[in-house]
Amino acid sequence: MKIILANPRGFCAGVNMAIDTVDEALKIVGAPLYVYHEIVHNKHVVDRFVQEGVVFVDTIEEVPADSTVVFSAHGVSPAVRNAAKARGCTMIDATCPLVTKVHMEAIRYAKQGYKMLLVGHAGHDEVVGTVGEAPDAFTIVESPEDVERTNFGPEDKLVYLTQTTLSMDDANVIINAIKAKYPHVKEPPSEDICYATTNRQHAVRALAPAADLCIVVGSKNSSNSVRLTEISQNTGCPAYLVDDKSELDLAWFDGVGTVLITAGASAPEHLVQQIVEELIENYGGEAEDSHIVEEDVHFNLPRSLRVLQGAN
Ligand code: SF4
Repeated sequence: MKIILANPRGFCAGVNMAIDTVDEALKIVGAPLYVYHEIVHNKHVVDRFVQEGVVFVDTIEEVPADSTVVFSAHGVSPAVRNAAKARGCTMIDATCPLVTKVHMEAIRYAKQGYKMLLVGHAGHDEVVGTVGEAPDAFTIVESPEDVERTNFGPEDKLVYLTQTTLSMDDANVIINAIKAKYPHVKEPPSEDICYATTNRQHAVRALAPAADLCIVVGSKNSSNSVRLTEISQNTGCPAYLVDDKSELDLAWFDGVGTVLITAGASAPEHLVQQIVEELIENYGGEAEDSHIVEEDVHFNLPRSLRVLQGAN
């Protein structure tokens, strides 16, 4: 069997930063350390931190007063920050800077009196956090049909923003519907779908046509991992999303000569390597990396963490 490893795949700069933040905060604060929402959407990463004494919470009320709380890579709304402040919590903000960029755009456009259409998935942590910056100014649109149901006039100042981890193709369908219905809509100054999402999708789009099957390593609640699966399927290459090698079904590989393996931005590389070993053990052959885009992005640890490091 030929195994093609898509490159880039796996951890992005935002996920690396968020995981390093929790590791460092654990060293300083010790267990229990409270983290608001899954630090990144990956079961293995979350399980590892739980074993080390991290307590993941879905509401700030679950965080004891005066303790330390880390905000996840997906970002939080001002209401969550205010609630943590009111409880006397020390806050460490591991929000990815590329999510923060979308928050800043939302704040700026809301101040300028714009109504905002947010192209994204209602209920996703990132979307909840972004909308929280200006709840009255946002309308979430998940499909062209959602756009059709909106009712803005030519006098409304209108702009669209996007969730960072969408499929570019899906987003463009919705953006085109927005532009068709509202020709006066303002485009954001730069693309909101992030470099890591774009590059991982580009690699799958380029490599999947040469494969018989695609395995995407990632969790089911990882938006960018689900999008990679869909993109492979859209090229005609069947694809499965698995958390790890235990979810592989060997029946998938009957008659398969070439397998493409990729990983979502929150999936650890050792899980990819375990799958490669499993396939080689069962079917022989070898794996080769196929570099489609080179990445060289790094984010510093959050300032709130560096302040805490300096105080200890
Ligand atoms: S996928 Fe993009 S936006 Fe999300 S954490 Fe990674 S770099 Fe940041």
